[in-house]
Amino acid sequence: MDNIFSQLGISDKVFGFGERILERISPRFSEIDRIAEYNQAKVISAMQKNRVSATCFAGTTGYGYDDVGRDTLEKVYADIFHTEAALVRPQITCGTHALATALSANLLPGDELLSPVGRPYDTLEEVIGIRESKCSLKEYGVSYREVELTADGGFDFEGIRKAINEKTKLVTIQRSKGYKTRPTFSVEQIGTLISFVKSIKPDVICMVDNCYGEFVEKIEPSDVGADMTVGSLIKNPGGGLAPVGGYIAGTKECVERCAYRLSAPGLGQEVGANLGVMTSLYEGLFLAPTVVASALKGAIFAANVYEDLGFKVVPNSTESRHDIIQAVELGLAERMKAFCLGIQSAAPVDSFATPEPWAMPGYDSEVIMAAGAFIQGSSIELSADGPIREPYAVYFQGGLTWAHAKLGILMSLQKLIEARLVDID
Ligand SMILES: *Cc1c(COP(=O)(O)O)cnc(C)c1O
Repeated sequence: MDNIFSQLGISDKVFGFGERILERISPRFSEIDRIAEYNQAKVISAMQKNRVSATCFAGTTGYGYDDVGRDTLEKVYADIFHTEAALVRPQITCGTHALATALSANLLPGDELLSPVGRPYDTLEEVIGIRESKCSLKEYGVSYREVELTADGGFDFEGIRKAINEKTKLVTIQRSKGYKTRPTFSVEQIGTLISFVKSIKPDVICMVDNCYGEFVEKIEPSDVGADMTVGSLIKNPGGGLAPVGGYIAGTKECVERCAYRLSAPGLGQEVGANLGVMTSLYEGLFLAPTVVASALKGAIFAANVYEDLGFKVVPNSTESRHDIIQAVELGLAERMKAFCLGIQSAAPVDSFATPEPWAMPGYDSEVIMAAGAFIQGSSIELSADGPIREPYAVYFQGGLTWAHAKLGILMSLQKLIEARLVDID
């Protein structure tokens, strides 16, 4: 048993260190399994209710009129999220595209967008126009305002009240921390924020960037009042099998506008061939609850390993979880490289590669990424990344299986020790 780990390059010392941590955290794993069991039943129930059958897996081409597989999948998503409608498409190229579609479809010139949770995810800065970009919302006359979180990561209710004005049309709430070391919000907290916003301005549209949050809890932001819940299929809900895609689940009115923006006014959801990816989208969704559970176990293991070694980890070793991301503040660019090398070395694909920082499109500092993934850039697969800037934090996420997540974390520690950047004595 242990021999295979030493063949892979993991020392007895590192392996033993991991085993001691595991003894401590295994009780939390059963709680995660229980949530996965609930969400598995929720997914199966939605598939049964919509009579998913082999017909749904057929590929379509051209306009994609009357695409039963695509239309049924959208109903399945709407049932899982308890929304009137959903747009789930391989033509949505990534999470940023899904969010940009939701925003630009529902904001018109003269409207204002408000983020009551501080600066949104890096790639949205150009979508909004916080950083100048062609075709940004700003260029189309949509203004933007943000309210910082309080020092302890809470909502600044007074500041939010003041920021909402007659132009405020849409409020965007990012659930996950993204490349920040603020806390991720629970669905319940998001519900409190939505209720507060709607008590001030009832007709404001509340959108939640749900990236990395799907199936971590038993409820989703759409269960607590979000008008649009948005995410990427190469993260949680694709279960590692979806080769591409994004989703927007929400009210009929909002989703229809999104479909008009994505294809064309008048065409909307009627067009969009599925190009033969339906089996992966359905099967990935079916697997997603247990894949998310594996990723969560990996995140908790990583938090405990690195907190024990004296690093600041967000969330910390005992906090409750609301997304699958684990931030580890390593304090040095060199440590980020060694950590990422470990994750890469443990991968089934491209394990021989060495991650190096690069200027990724959409990000304003250099980013290092480790991913040996079956689907390019898929971060529900075991991966680590982070911008090369203070506090030199790596964001660790994913793991289609818990065993792989564990191996990756042990390997990251091994590489840090070999580079003499960490000591476990
Ligand atoms: C990943 C992510 C996005 C963007 O998704 P891409 O698929 O990388 O474009 C947006 N918001 C959050 C919180 C994310 O984690």
